[in-house]
Amino acid sequence: MKIAIPKERRAHESRVAASPETVKKMIGLGAEVAVEKGAGTGSNFTDDAYKTAGATVGTDVTADADVVLKVQRPIVSGKDAELTSYKSGAVVMAICDPYRAGDDVSAMAKSGATVFAMDLVPRITRAQSMDVLSSQSNLAGYKAVLDASAEYASAFPMMMTAAGTVAPAKVLVMGAGVAGLQAIATAKRLGAVVSATDVRPAAKEQVESLGGTFVAVEDEEFKQAETAGGYAKEMSDDYKKKQAELIAETIKKQDIVITTALIPGRPAPMLVSADMVKSMKPGSVIVDLAVENGGNCELAQAGKVVTKHGVKIVGHYNVPSRVAADASALYARNLFNLLQLLVDGETKALAIDWEDEIVKGTCITRDGKIVHPGLAPKED
Ligand code: NAD
Repeated sequence: MKIAIPKERRAHESRVAASPETVKKMIGLGAEVAVEKGAGTGSNFTDDAYKTAGATVGTDVTADADVVLKVQRPIVSGKDAELTSYKSGAVVMAICDPYRAGDDVSAMAKSGATVFAMDLVPRITRAQSMDVLSSQSNLAGYKAVLDASAEYASAFPMMMTAAGTVAPAKVLVMGAGVAGLQAIATAKRLGAVVSATDVRPAAKEQVESLGGTFVAVEDEEFKQAETAGGYAKEMSDDYKKKQAELIAETIKKQDIVITTALIPGRPAPMLVSADMVKSMKPGSVIVDLAVENGGNCELAQAGKVVTKHGVKIVGHYNVPSRVAADASALYARNLFNLLQLLVDGETKALAIDWEDEIVKGTCITRDGKIVHPGLAPKED
């Protein structure tokens, strides 16, 4: 079994899909591993470190690979096309964003590739070690707070000095999933006074256990607002209005707002309106982690830090890639853990159990077709 790790070609992407540690483990699985020259540079993994781990390092590594490990889905056409250089039937594992990238999913199916979308790994206990959404969101939540502090002209902790007292920063985290909980923990560690909001009732206890104050309209709808998979539901217009009023009152008093709210397969909910931004104190900072999914803040712009009504609004692309070394190391382990499930320990060859819940939940294309139940065109 030949495994290739190409250098990522998309803009704003510094991560890589294997670390020297996982290369060693893949060789232990009986694989030959080829890493593209410079693939790990953005994550501080040198070509020599990959060689020491047992990989070959070169160019055109994907042409004869049985398995291609990627961070982002391959580019399907144009001068930077990657998919066209893969062997037909190759297994490709990558973050695919399949609900928004329908044309790319069709192209991947047409190419004959067997594609595993790492962002669809089911959230079941057995798959926790493969959960890239968690490993990457966790780092994004951490980095969002540091990005906020870098733009904020005041301190986070309370400081009592001979020249007087510096008040602690007030931080509101909107969306208390994986990223939000890490943002709460990071802001607390920096000494801020933290509150948080979410539409899932289970989030209340998690926020409070980290020392944050929970802010939400806790009515009957709120009590039912979680899917069986543990995700947020789209809320009614009436609930959204009541919640927006509460947030409007809360936001005025904040120095920092970190937004992380997402609804799988749908645009991010709009939570911070232009009027709310206007109501904030000059010098306040908003970091919108959902900016690439449509944004939680009306005035956020993807890839930019903008100042509106005296408030800095941070909309960096690809925040996990801003912590590339750790993000790659964790992502690489997530990939290896899924790969291990696809390989027969004795024959050292791919032996995929198509009935396995994790395989079924993650594989999106196979034998020229889109096979994921959430993506396949409906039969008449
Ligand atoms: P996510 O990235 O899809 O969304 C981030 C947060 O935004 C969620 O907490 C969501 O409830 C919240 N949100 C959505 N709409 C909102 C709104 N209008 N206002 C405020 N908040 C809003 O979520 P996630 O971080 O991937 O986590 C989702 C769930 O999955 C959580 O319950 C988490 O504990 C769970 N989870 C389970 C596993 C596992 O079992 N293996 C692993 C990771 C996460």
